[in-house]
Amino acid sequence: MAQLSDDCFAFGGPMMSVDEAVGLITTRVNAIVDLEAVALIDADGRVLARDIAAPLPLPPFTNSAVDGYAVRNADLPDSAERALPLDGRIQAGGLALAPIKAGRTARIFTGAPMPPDAETVFMQEDVRVDDAGRIVLPPGLKPGTNVRPAGEDIPQGHIALRAGQRLLPQHVALAAAFGLVRLDVVRRIRVAVFSTGDELASPGEPRAASQLFDSNRFMLMAMLRRLGCDVSDLGILRDERISLANGLKQVAGTHDLILTTGGVSTGEEDHVKAAVESIGSLVLWRMAIKPGRPVAMGIIEGTPLIGLPGNPVASFVTFVHVVRPTVLALAGSLQAPPLPIPVRAAFTYKKKAGRREYVRASLRRMQDGALEAIKFPREGAGLLSSLVDTDGLIELDEEVTRVEPGQSVGFLSYADLL
Ligand code: AMP
Ligand code: MG
Repeated sequence: MAQLSDDCFAFGGPMMSVDEAVGLITTRVNAIVDLEAVALIDADGRVLARDIAAPLPLPPFTNSAVDGYAVRNADLPDSAERALPLDGRIQAGGLALAPIKAGRTARIFTGAPMPPDAETVFMQEDVRVDDAGRIVLPPGLKPGTNVRPAGEDIPQGHIALRAGQRLLPQHVALAAAFGLVRLDVVRRIRVAVFSTGDELASPGEPRAASQLFDSNRFMLMAMLRRLGCDVSDLGILRDERISLANGLKQVAGTHDLILTTGGVSTGEEDHVKAAVESIGSLVLWRMAIKPGRPVAMGIIEGTPLIGLPGNPVASFVTFVHVVRPTVLALAGSLQAPPLPIPVRAAFTYKKKAGRREYVRASLRRMQDGALEAIKFPREGAGLLSSLVDTDGLIELDEEVTRVEPGQSVGFLSYADLL
């Protein structure tokens, strides 16, 4: 399991900036080194554990990029058309055994190997056949046109995929193109997930009049699964220090990360802090982020714990900006955080300097083609509809104090964050 010494997160201070806090976590957690080999079909979303050097060049052999006619460069017409007799036919998957003869052309198809000595291919659309059945080639084609030389994509031996790469379908395609069958990936990060709160009922259970169904746990587990984690659903812990402490203690040591939601504010019924302090060490870390300010970070028997706020939007935003980088760091992923794309604000907004804020927004394309961000009309951190009915988050940096309509702001799409 991920082991942390108790002083890893001993960073005091009342409010830490998001960048400082995440920088600290991601440099301090020890990346998991256990690997497993997975079949290509199961590799999507996993983190590659070893560099992959190209075992063969891509393409593996020089081939035609089009359906057409192959010729020697010496036979290319320069100023007038030239008619060449047809001699040979090479299909994709066929062998080009005989070298092409001087003054002749061979029928060739896309992906077929170039015959020895042939260097250029005329597209079939650019030639005509004369009465004698010869192929009439137009002048002016550059030598080497319509040919894909061996290794033009990736030369043999090139480090084509790096350890730490979180695999996307295109990376899987590259591994398949190399003929690889299985890939060494970092084993899944094991995350224990708890909700906390007497007011919560699990979907499927009876709900008292003063209760609401636990939505955060399912949101967080879904986000963790998207990050490739192995998730343990540990249900709901009551607002009581001892049962919280017992619940957390049970999973320390068997998981790489413990994630809780709720109970981290400073109210009398927020017991996560005291529970963690009773069995491990906690630095209640008030991060300068809105929504989400209360985020707790602790260590229980060497296992890191992140306590997210209970309000669903705060939970979502802090997951994306704190838990996600932590999970990626645990998996040894090299992935850089997504870059906000510039869009035009269609709203006015005031904020305090000194904290990072995330504004839920939808995108609309304007007549001039630019993208405009429309702020969700209400601001409550408990409004699930605000996440469902928007496309992403506008990131407002610490120094920003107001946003005016037309101003350029950075937009992070949910598609890139999840
Ligand atoms: P807390 O952080 O525990 O003070 O909770 C803040 C708000 O979030 C309260 O209104 C809670 O009812 C709500 N809340 C806490 N946990 C959850 C959860 N798992 N699902 C949905 N809402 C929650
Ligand atoms: Mg609570």
